Amino acid sequence: MRNAKIVCTLGPASSDRETIRKLAEAGMSVARLNASHGETDDRAELIERVRAVDEARRHPIAVMLDLQGPEVRTAPLSDDRTITLETGGSVTLVEGDTASADEIGLSTWIGGVTRGDRVLLDDGLISLSVTDVTGETVTARVDSGGELEGRKGVNVPGVDLDLETVTESDRRELELAAEYEVDFVAASFVGSAADVYQVNEELEALGVEIPIVSKIERADAVSNLDELVDSSQGIMVARGDLGVECPMEDVPMIQKRIIRRCRESGVPVITATEMLDSMVHSPRPTRAEASDVANAVLDGTDAVMLSAETAVGDDPVRVVETMRRIVREVERSEEYEEVVESRVPITGASKTDALARSARYLARDVGADAIVAATESGYTALKAAKYRPTIPVVGSTPHDDVRRRLALSWGVTPVYAPISDQSADAVIERAVQSAIDAEVAESGDTVVVLCGMMTELEGANTTNMLKVHVAADALDTGRVVVEGRASGPIAHAPDGDLSEVPAGAILSLGHEFDDEFAGDFETLAGIVDARPGMTGYSALIARELEIPMLSGADITDLEPGRIVTIDGGRGVIYDGELAHHEPDTDRDEA
Ligand code: PEP
Repeated sequence: MRNAKIVCTLGPASSDRETIRKLAEAGMSVARLNASHGETDDRAELIERVRAVDEARRHPIAVMLDLQGPEVRTAPLSDDRTITLETGGSVTLVEGDTASADEIGLSTWIGGVTRGDRVLLDDGLISLSVTDVTGETVTARVDSGGELEGRKGVNVPGVDLDLETVTESDRRELELAAEYEVDFVAASFVGSAADVYQVNEELEALGVEIPIVSKIERADAVSNLDELVDSSQGIMVARGDLGVECPMEDVPMIQKRIIRRCRESGVPVITATEMLDSMVHSPRPTRAEASDVANAVLDGTDAVMLSAETAVGDDPVRVVETMRRIVREVERSEEYEEVVESRVPITGASKTDALARSARYLARDVGADAIVAATESGYTALKAAKYRPTIPVVGSTPHDDVRRRLALSWGVTPVYAPISDQSADAVIERAVQSAIDAEVAESGDTVVVLCGMMTELEGANTTNMLKVHVAADALDTGRVVVEGRASGPIAHAPDGDLSEVPAGAILSLGHEFDDEFAGDFETLAGIVDARPGMTGYSALIARELEIPMLSGADITDLEPGRIVTIDGGRGVIYDGELAHHEPDTDRDEA
């Protein structure tokens, strides 16, 4: 189990179903579709492909549609054409598709620029200074020239270009997001909470509620970090544009501050861009890149993101495997354990916060193997993850969309568990069983269950509940003839001959048994009789020996010697030897 998740940008190198499947196998949890490239219709097909892969897998793949936002790009150039901008020369910028060394077309008019402003092209590789603005033509000096390709990003640091937060092209993408109910929408170039609300309103108008991941890539977004974290369901440290809009040397500390702020608020945060950039063409990352991923994980990021590496790289699957290995090594280290233990956030205001924080320490103190969060909206699972427990959090939910959305969150293994019975005990059993099915917990493990169902559950005063529970794979249920709990190997004796039955066995009797025992029955640990009834011969013996017995439960098909536990309180036979807790009577409701 990994805590930090991997987000992969899909593109020409990774958009076929087989590669998506392999990326998922290698460790991708979220597929990012970048609306700055390609066509909306192609993205629709891509979403369908990702969903098909998700449906065939146990571990979810969420879809994040990343809007282009009010981004300015240079005009497209045909084929591999480039334009040479000579240092010291002059160039004009206009809105449109022109593209020559004298005049460069832009996707949008850059309204707010004035004389002296710096205009950066292609991630700042080419730098211009504005010398004149006349009407809708900007004249600029080339301070640092180079070869300009088509559709490269244009940044004007520190200048409000007065662009629409949601562009026409974004609206088309939002319609797509709504039609397919994607799991996240990433909002580009937002500067304040008002921008996030605007994207949200557009989604609401389309009749959907989709979590918004705000990309921090402008200087004003950094200044307004608190309100962006509070108004968003996720944050992305979009280091590409951030490193152009802000001084490059500021980016590392801005990244650390953003991660910290998100951790403290329990809002998932993605660290993005150029994490393993050299692997676009190289089979190995640089040492610096490996350290970059490791440091983001040590800082507590929820996810690390790959962009060109998986979208257009030579070997996307290899990149994800490499990233997974780096994350794994960090998370296995003593340094990681120390740092996680030393910065558990103080509790938030809600009751669920207090319970989730308690769950973390309770799990540690009882030596639990997992925290199982039964969650309808995902809220309880997010809270459990916020306090960064050192064991996995299973987010068990009856909603498939919530299952996918939890794929982004630190330490959460999301599982689908439909609720058929509204009793609190049934919800807990189902959630724990889903953790066993997901192979996060095994029968016999101690788990801490945090229940946050919004539906009022029978038998629970409140839907907030914390409980220490023994995970158990139920094999069958029956009627309790004699109470008690016993574990031992199964022994079958169809005709009652106990001569081959070992001491301490759980005796399994089938429907055909109608005789008496032959041999020593005093060493039996328990009896499971397939026939119903409370008063037969076997019941008499069980009462005499005071060993647990169930009737009407059939384990005759199970192989002899398999260890099982009879729970003669609840009438359940569990797989394996369960710790001798009495977990079912000491529920601690809050
Ligand atoms: C970034 O700028 O780092 C980023 C992730 O955004 P985009 O890839 O859309 O430019």
